[in-house]
Amino acid sequence: MRALMNRILWLAISWICVAGCVSHAPKQTDAQLQRFEFQKPEMGLPFRIVLYAPDEKKANEAAAAAFQRIGQLNDIMSDYDEESELTLLSKTAGQGKAVKVSDDLWRVLDRAQQLAKESDGAFDITVGPVVQLWRKARREQKLPDRENLAIARAAVGFKNLQLDQKLHTAELLVSRMKLDLGAIAKGYANDEAMKVLRSHGVTRALVTGGGDMAAGDPPPGKKGWRIELAPLDVPNAPPTNFVMIANQGLATSGDLFQHVEIDGTRYSHIVDPRTGIGLTDHSLVVVIARDGMTADGLSTTLSVIGGEKGRRIVEGHHAEARMVRNVSDRVEIFETVGFKKYLQDK
Ligand code: ADP
Ligand code: MG
Repeated sequence: MRALMNRILWLAISWICVAGCVSHAPKQTDAQLQRFEFQKPEMGLPFRIVLYAPDEKKANEAAAAAFQRIGQLNDIMSDYDEESELTLLSKTAGQGKAVKVSDDLWRVLDRAQQLAKESDGAFDITVGPVVQLWRKARREQKLPDRENLAIARAAVGFKNLQLDQKLHTAELLVSRMKLDLGAIAKGYANDEAMKVLRSHGVTRALVTGGGDMAAGDPPPGKKGWRIELAPLDVPNAPPTNFVMIANQGLATSGDLFQHVEIDGTRYSHIVDPRTGIGLTDHSLVVVIARDGMTADGLSTTLSVIGGEKGRRIVEGHHAEARMVRNVSDRVEIFETVGFKKYLQDK
């Protein structure tokens, strides 16, 4: 759930559409809409809302309600908060307890487990114990201790998280298990914030949380929201790209900002749950999907398994993806067939 302030800089968003992207004459009501922008830290991330509303009062009300919803989701899904529903659930690990979970938590757990199955455990929200060791490694600039890593790994495995589809209960079968929704919860929060905006009659909006986003209807007179994607920070990487999205989610994953460098090796905050080790190949993934939660989960998955192995999973979710990876000083680009249709001229 934690990410970085810098991400906003990395994934800058431009509202100014290039000439030629006007799809239709503005509707009568569009002429009365004004652009408003809001920003607030939530979930340890800068969340940002850009919306079009007829007046300031309507804009403020809608944005406040959307931020409140994000705060509510943080209270449920944070793994930093000792009192969150997620933390309390993790504390029941190994106690033989099936715990009834809230509808929000259920939706995210259920989706996460689906993705874990599809990816054969490359995406795994039970990765908490290992992620905690890597957070410590980042703070101390020191690799996790072998023994501690082995203990942590023994408590990782999505098959040890049992969900009951009828009762909406979750059970953590092994003691010391710890759930971490960092790879999927902000996508869900963006989607839910967007729903709240819609319920306030605001449909032309974009919600961004730490660089991941949920886009609603386009700005008045435009075909979509124009998003700038920065390049991977290696020589010969493809340059900055722009994509155009509407009523979709977009997510990015990579080791650009959250990593630790020890003895010349850069370890990402994304770990391979099967080894317990932070990813060491520099990569940058962008996923465009039907919603933010799908995009968020898929982008982390691709970081772990790579584009080729992830192609079927991405296609199964009707999503499009691009992955730029630096493999032994060579830049590899993977792109699904449909990704190009979102690309824009500079
Ligand atoms: P970001 O937070 O930078 O947007 P991601 O969406 O890829 O990036 O999420 C990364 C976070 O997900 C990590 O900080 C960690 O909390 C968690 N995580 C790390 N590795 C995995 C994994 N293999 N599967 C699921 N979650 C992971
Ligand atoms: Mg993710």
